[in-house]
Amino acid sequence: MALRFNNTLSQQVEEFSPARDNTVRMYTCGPTVYDYAHIGNFRTFTFVDILRRTLRANGFALDHVMNITDVDDKIIRNAVAQHKSLDDYTAVYTQAFLDDCAALRLERPERLTPATAHIGDMVEAIERLAASGHTYSSDGSSYFRISTFPGYGKLSHNDFSGNIAGARVDLDEYEKADARDFALWKAPKEGEPAWQTAIGPGRPGWHIECSVMAIKYLGETLDIHAGGVDLIFPHHENEIAQSESLTGKPFARFWLHAEFLMVEGQKMSKSLGNYYTLRDILDRGYQPEAIRYLLASVPYRKQLNFTFDGLKSAATAIDRLRNFKLRLETERYPEGRNEQLGARTAAAAEAFAGSLDDDLNTAGALAAVFEFVRDANSAMDSGEFCAANVAPALEFLARFDRIFDVLAPSAQGHAISDAEVEALVAERAAAKQARNFTRADEIRQRLLAQGVILEDTKSGVRWKRK
Ligand code: AMP
Ligand code: ZN
Repeated sequence: MALRFNNTLSQQVEEFSPARDNTVRMYTCGPTVYDYAHIGNFRTFTFVDILRRTLRANGFALDHVMNITDVDDKIIRNAVAQHKSLDDYTAVYTQAFLDDCAALRLERPERLTPATAHIGDMVEAIERLAASGHTYSSDGSSYFRISTFPGYGKLSHNDFSGNIAGARVDLDEYEKADARDFALWKAPKEGEPAWQTAIGPGRPGWHIECSVMAIKYLGETLDIHAGGVDLIFPHHENEIAQSESLTGKPFARFWLHAEFLMVEGQKMSKSLGNYYTLRDILDRGYQPEAIRYLLASVPYRKQLNFTFDGLKSAATAIDRLRNFKLRLETERYPEGRNEQLGARTAAAAEAFAGSLDDDLNTAGALAAVFEFVRDANSAMDSGEFCAANVAPALEFLARFDRIFDVLAPSAQGHAISDAEVEALVAERAAAKQARNFTRADEIRQRLLAQGVILEDTKSGVRWKRK
């Protein structure tokens, strides 16, 4: 079966291939660098990473642009309050974002484009929209008149007919699903930083930056545009209105949207205060791979409820896979090849790829891996796993890891805390008592991977750091 995605625009699962040559032209909305990103944001960015890797596994090349929103209402509010320039203020959070992405092993898009490096392009686009009658000005700001774009609502599947009142909105973010003329250019308020341009002093609205940078680098029609579900309306709807009014062409062929990371039934968000940053989690002694695994493990169109138990299960799942790999690499197996097991390996690899190609069904892909690991482990226990079965099994794990990328332990992961070690030592003792030696061994290996050595003595378990 071919690679296919659920397209928000058509509300159908459609077969995907790039429109031109072998390169996927993709734009994904990046972070607003007004603060540290939280792991909810990283759920969406992890989805984008899995998407990138799956596209490449299908043989496509990538030209992927992601913006950095380094000017918006919140940034200006905070920078002004701290008497900092916008650049000084956003540099810290841009770097923090890139560091967090690296810790989570999120591949760098081919181009990262800061909004403030494209103000001239945006001004030019607003002038063109004005010349074709799509805008009006009021008090030095420019607005997009949505009644001039008949397709408004086609992405969010809102029927706005009869509801386009011409009311307008100055905020970058607004939630109500009613149609409002939105700001393309905002006149500066007292004390706010501003660019001096041909359309007057001010700064761009949020929506125009994505349209302009996407078209500039990727052309008039993108293969894929993606982001979190909260961006469907108004942000992506507004991007379509601007872009298609500029070019007369469809803006993107496929629109993909990731569901939320939730906490106790609510979206993880800054405004609700129910969030963790990556740093918060690492400070508790968790490895970044565990967070990556957790965020990737639930298919992107399902909500994911964040819990620390879920994070612990993710760490355990990684341990299991690392131990399996270690076993493949270190144990001695009888000569020859077990044909049945060879076929089992090939089928598992096919099920893995088939699940990902099915709209990035990561849960199905992981199930294929773990069922295989279970079968292979029992074949090893019973002496049926043969020497010639090792290489294909390792190749399957490598294939898994080209997408999930969790097998190598993080060098830069925060050190495991004493309390975490104690908790794992206690868990291992309980596992041994219950004669669950597999689990006990997993814990020993996991601690070893984090530089902690266990010694079983007559008076109990002692541990030390390497
Ligand atoms: P922002 O930095 O606010 O522009 O958000 C960056 C990305 O994170 C956007 O694509 C949002 O859709 C996404 N996002 C925000 N909150 C969540 C959440 N709780 N779960 C998943 N994605 C989110
Ligand atoms: Zn955007």
